Amino acid sequence: MKKKIAIIAHNGKKAEMVQFLNENREILQSKAIHLIATGTTGAKTETAGFEVEKLLSGPIGGDAQIAAKVAEGQIQMVIFFRDPMDKHPHEPDIFMLMRICDVHNIPLATNPATAKLLIQGI
Ligand code: PGA
Repeated sequence: MKKKIAIIAHNGKKAEMVQFLNENREILQSKAIHLIATGTTGAKTETAGFEVEKLLSGPIGGDAQIAAKVAEGQIQMVIFFRDPMDKHPHEPDIFMLMRICDVHNIPLATNPATAKLLIQGI
């Protein structure tokens, strides 16, 4: 079965997210991987040339949708490039997603350095 990897990047981290995708293109475009993302992150992922399943934008529930899928066992890894220097209207959803990853022991990277290590471990 394909490994489903969720990608989310806050606005201040979207450029780094695209750079991460490009640097790890070979692994992330493998047939064994299915990418799923919040709305705007997904649109940027598509523009970068990847196939991706897009959910709602983060502030209107995209993070919560990803958390629900983690809880249901549908997502095997979460790459979440958080911007620690900005405020977010959906902060409760952000913490909820991280908590759900911990509840279900799902690998969660919150910065590119950790994401790189996780990806290499696939
Ligand atoms: P976005 O959402 O990909 O729609 O920008 C990300 C977020 O802010 O959680």
